[in-house]
Amino acid sequence: MHEMGIALQIIDIATAAIPPEMRGRRVEKVNLRIGKLSAVVVDSLNFCLEIATRDTSLAEAEFSIEEVPVVAQCRECGYEWQVAQAVFKCPECGSGNLEMISGRELDVVSIDIEEPVDSEMQNQSR
Ligand SMILES: [Zn+2]
Repeated sequence: MHEMGIALQIIDIATAAIPPEMRGRRVEKVNLRIGKLSAVVVDSLNFCLEIATRDTSLAEAEFSIEEVPVVAQCRECGYEWQVAQAVFKCPECGSGNLEMISGRELDVVSIDIEEPVDSEMQNQSR
């Protein structure tokens, strides 16, 4: 499944983004941006994330997925627009010489990690 590969990729990126001193804490939320060109079905991705995060520090995390629209720019006249359907032609001048400037994103934007509990020993030297 396409989404499972992406889910594993997201988990890798998110896990790597947790600062070493915060390892072991519960991750509350992972904010993602996914471009519509990556053809991800959000429901399937959520399902895969749920399965793939079991027994990891992300097991209880909520995944917030923001879909990024596909934005194209015409190389001929510079016109920029959101591509709604698969017609890849500049609406201004009709040129097919386009650049996709967004829509392929697969970004972990931020991660919310739980605050340490008050009773926890604080002996950080920095
Ligand atoms: Zn154009």
